[in-house]
Order: sequence, then structure tokens, then C-alpha cells
Amino acid sequence: MKVLIIDRQQIKELLPMRACMDVLANTFRAYSRGESVQPLRTMMKVPGSGGILAPMPGYDGASKALAGKLITVFHNESETKFDSHQGLVVLFSAKHGNPLAIMDAIEITAIRTAAASGVATETLARKEAATLAILGSGVQARSHFTAMTEARNIQSVRIWSQTSKNAQKLAEELSDLSSTDITVSNDVQTAVDNAHIVCTVTTAAEPILEGAWLSPGAHINAVGSSMAKRRELDSEAVVNSKLYVDSRESATNEAGDFLIPLSEGAVSHDHILGEIGEVLEGGADGRQSSDEITLFKSLGMAVEDVAAAQYIYSQAKEKGGGVWVDM
Ligand code: NDP
Repeated sequence: MKVLIIDRQQIKELLPMRACMDVLANTFRAYSRGESVQPLRTMMKVPGSGGILAPMPGYDGASKALAGKLITVFHNESETKFDSHQGLVVLFSAKHGNPLAIMDAIEITAIRTAAASGVATETLARKEAATLAILGSGVQARSHFTAMTEARNIQSVRIWSQTSKNAQKLAEELSDLSSTDITVSNDVQTAVDNAHIVCTVTTAAEPILEGAWLSPGAHINAVGSSMAKRRELDSEAVVNSKLYVDSRESATNEAGDFLIPLSEGAVSHDHILGEIGEVLEGGADGRQSSDEITLFKSLGMAVEDVAAAQYIYSQAKEKGGGVWVDM
């Protein structure tokens, strides 16, 4: 049995942001049509480390592909050579169950998460949105810059991070890659002032973004928190926004950004207006006016990894990428 091994650098080359966004739009649609399968995420705490190990299996009805991601999340790794999210994705034949490929999960997670926000931004943000605020300066901050510039004609970017030298480093790095005007903000309020698009990509457990600071017509991608008791947005930000999610099931179990305002009585379950797939399918309304605030709460779905892995595998076979190993 031959299995294709695909490393991080090859994934970067085989999964461009635009391609991943197009793939995920179909994946979101199939998920919301009920054609996909993914169990609710379980996470195992790793004793003595503060880290977690999470299995994320799924079947994507759009690509008819089967895969499982096994990922660790170890934060406070800034002093080491390791990324916060690491792991592997194993792609299987959905017909026979045999393994087809093993891939690095760092790059897939970085690209597919930002691509999901890219699809949400194309679906919900105002067409003329041109100013972007990025809150955070890690892996997701980098990939979200790429996704947002794919989704809209971004003219200026403000970056805030709790450690300002990290924001500065990111701004310099992105300025070398792009002609977009990129500056660093010393506080979140300044960063989001008049921003048309805001991406929250931090590991903050308590709100960093206040609703009072958001401008009419803004679109927010809330990406960082994926646990019921952690959040990046205050309740006012959620109350004042039209809320969309990747998966209702995930949002109502894992999204502190939604569940904490829900527990306070600030919003009800009806506050979730739809999944992105439902909006794309026409089953839920998206943005209705240029001054309402839209909010995409991303939890990250296993089917995103499955669809990305299937795309990478087909590209690798077509272009001769990866290394075949006889198992
Ligand atoms: P990184 O470790 O690369 O970056 C973490 C960022 O969070 C840094 O910019 C850091 O700022 C910031 N940060 C840490 N603690 C705080 C705090 N208390 N307040 C404000 N900012 C803080 O992580 P990633 O970029 O890989 O991931 C970012 C978040 O996105 C994580 O929470 C992760 O779990 C989540 N995620 C969500 C996914 C989804 O599908 N929705 C998928 C993948 C990740 P600084 O360096 O300046 O200190």
C-alpha cells in the first residue's frame, strides 16, 4: 500500500489561498445541506503541559473525501522553535478506507482557517470594504492578511498585538510582501476605529474587542476562541452584530463569544442568523444594509481540513509533489 507524504513547504505551494477559499465555499454549502459528517470536537488535556491533543475526523460531502486531523495545541511556545498548533492530517479513501496521504497539519490549519474567514468576508462584508484591523500577530494573523486581501481590495491595515514588538515584526514582514499601507496600533480601539473588517486572531481568554469601538458597517471574523469559557469579544459586540457561524452545533457548544452573552441573557439562540453555508445556499439572509455590523464566529470545522487535504492530494498527484512511501 503506497501512501503520499506531503510536507509543510509543499502544502504552501499546493494550496494557494484563493483555491482554498473556493474549495471551502463548496464545503460550507455541503455541510449546511447536511451532506457532511463531523463529530463534535473532543480535546484531551495533556497533564503537566497546559497543552491539548484533539482528534478531528470528518467526511466532506462536497469533495466526498474522508480524513482525520490529529492536532496538538500548546501555547506559551514563543520561546521555543515550535508552532502553537501542530499535527498531521491523514486522508483516506472514502470508498475502501485505505490511507492515501499523510500531511503536515500546521500549514493546512493556517491556510484553511484564514480561507474560511475569507469566504465569510466575501459573503458578508461590504463590497467596498478596504480597511482592515488585525488583532494578534501569530500564525493566523499572517494567513488572515492573505485571505482578507483575496476577499476584498484592502488598502490599509492596522495591526495590534499585546506584545507591540510582535505587531511591529509582523507589520515589517507584511510590508515587504505587499504595497498595502500597514501600520501598528498601540491599542485595540485605535486599531479598529473606522475599520471595515476586523479579524480577532488571539489566544485571549477575556474580551479584547469592545462593541462600543466598532464602526457601522464593519465585518468581524472572530477566530481565536474555540472554548465555551473563553472569548475575544465583549457581549456588546455580539449583541450589536448580525451573527453567523461555520456550524451551529459547534457554536452552541464551543463558542464562548456566543455562549457567554447567552448565559448573561444578552442574546438568545435566535441571535445566530445562519451558517455561512446557509447564506451561500440562499437559505439564510446575509448583510441587508451597509451600516449593519456582521460577525462571523469561526470555530474551525474538521470538514475544512478534509476538503483542503483532498485538494492538496489531487494537486500533488497532478504536479508530482510529495514522497510516496510503501507502508
Ligand atoms: P499564535 O500562538 O501563533 O498567536 C497567538 C496570538 O495571541 C499572538 O499574537 C499573541 O500576542 C496573542 N495573545 C496571546 N495571549 C493574549 C492575550 N491574553 N490577549 C491578547 N492577545 C494574546 O496562535 P495562532 O495564530 O495559531 O492562533 C490564534 C488563535 O486562533 C488561537 O486561540 C487558536 O486556538 C485559534 N485558532 C482558531 C482556529 C479556527 O478554526 N477558528 C484554527 C486555528 C487556530 P503576542 O504574541 O503579541 O503576545
